[in-house]
Amino acid sequence: MIRKMVEIRYPGTEYRYHVYADGILFLDIASTNKTAVCPYCGYPSAKVHSYHTRKFADLPYNGHELSVNLRIRKFFCSNENCAHKTFAEQFSFIKPSEKKTTRLIEKIISVYDGASSRKATTALNAAGVRVCKATVCNLKSKYR
Ligand SMILES: [Zn+2]
Repeated sequence: MIRKMVEIRYPGTEYRYHVYADGILFLDIASTNKTAVCPYCGYPSAKVHSYHTRKFADLPYNGHELSVNLRIRKFFCSNENCAHKTFAEQFSFIKPSEKKTTRLIEKIISVYDGASSRKATTALNAAGVRVCKATVCNLKSKYR
């Protein structure tokens, strides 16, 4: 079940393990990409510089708040004319420096669109999305 969810929600990654603690599902996944394209110049690279973990939140899974650890690679850019020596691989489901997936942000904003920030926060918390009022307001001003 969870492996299938990882396959659907996080293309380019694979399931490693998961644990439940305090009603939260902690999920560990890892990138399966052997190469990545430099976001600055568009050159592909297969030369790994280092490994990192990105932690982010996503829509709940089976009613559980979801916290994801994603192991990613940092690559050397293979283009010697590129201004960036290294870059982190990117994923379709989350923006580069974001702590929430794009679909989670869209969900938060869509709930907020029809309600006050207080009502939206209450509804989101009831649905397993842990956010505070300030986050809801910030996301809306950032993305709308
Ligand atoms: Zn580059």
